[in-house]
Amino acid sequence: MKKPPLIMTNVLVFIVTAAIAFIGVPIWAANFGIDWTEVGVAIFLFYFTGMSITAGYHRLWSHKTYDANVVVRVVLAIGGAMALQNSILHWSSDHRIHHRHVDDNDKDPYSAKKGLWFAHIGWMLREYQAKRYSDYSNCKDLQKDKVVMWQHNHYLRIMLVANFGITGFLGWLNGDILGMILVAGVLRLVLVHHVTFFINSLAHFWGNQPYTDNNTARDNGILAFFTFGEGYHNYHHIFEYDYRNGIRWYQFDPTKWLIAGLSFVGLTKNLRRCPEERIEKARAAMQLQRASEKASVLPNADELMQTIQSEYDLLIQRMSEYYAARKRLMRMKHSSLKRNLESLEVMYKYKELKQSLALQKEKWLQLQSLSFQMA
Ligand SMILES: [Zn+2]
Ligand SMILES: [Zn+2]
Repeated sequence: MKKPPLIMTNVLVFIVTAAIAFIGVPIWAANFGIDWTEVGVAIFLFYFTGMSITAGYHRLWSHKTYDANVVVRVVLAIGGAMALQNSILHWSSDHRIHHRHVDDNDKDPYSAKKGLWFAHIGWMLREYQAKRYSDYSNCKDLQKDKVVMWQHNHYLRIMLVANFGITGFLGWLNGDILGMILVAGVLRLVLVHHVTFFINSLAHFWGNQPYTDNNTARDNGILAFFTFGEGYHNYHHIFEYDYRNGIRWYQFDPTKWLIAGLSFVGLTKNLRRCPEERIEKARAAMQLQRASEKASVLPNADELMQTIQSEYDLLIQRMSEYYAARKRLMRMKHSSLKRNLESLEVMYKYKELKQSLALQKEKWLQLQSLSFQMA
């Protein structure tokens, strides 16, 4: 089949910026040097523009995982334009289709099933989906956001002023306009491009799948480090309305920290999280599937699978009981009930269920490693 025509603007932007970053900047550095101010500004703008994509384009606008004050939205819209990845409206429209039709080679605009190169950058080089290029019908909600429409209608201007105006001005203050534009403008832009493209490419190829294997998305802590926390992509694809991608406190997710940090000063609110119970059950269901697959090829498969199934059923039952008790306890704490007999009873029951869930989890874990050994 003949490939669709090239989108020359995109091809040229990628080639020219990469050539300047990887050939031009080293030559410039060798001849004129780079100072620490330029490096510092480049690092700052790397995080600012990268996280405008992850916290803004992605978690705020595409998935509506939280609400943000108008000042935050304007800042993120400018930072996102500076990252040169098209307007919020366009990006979100593509991204919502990516989630809805993930891995569908005909519909997913950057389907990982079409290969690493295609998912990383190839999808932007040709008119693969020319028909729906300006169809934003899946983003009607975003069309009501004045900041989104302002950025969409003036995208080119905002992008140019942000990229050359801000870096040029800072360069002028620092006494070297071109040096600053090269390092904090172009080199930074190319780096942000590729680390954010990793989320569509590597995060669908490299890592593990603790929550679902219905799609190619992976969790990967190393990748999270380079992608402002978006490396926990397996979690993200199953619970996309959660403002976190790395859900544990120790998982590197600066985008989550930024959103949560802004909520402390009242600039963001209504941060949405998936209930812990659903997360735990998704993980257990995946473990059940894996353990059954391993057990099915063993000589005593029938007996083993029965044990696995009954332990799993017990685990799910314990989880349901525990989370129901926790809910009761929370409700009681919110209401003004004093420490009467009833509240003591609820507390006692909660602790009991917590313990039996912990025990069952331990048994489940042992069973997992057992079937690992035998496999
Ligand atoms: Zn997403
Ligand atoms: Zn994805």
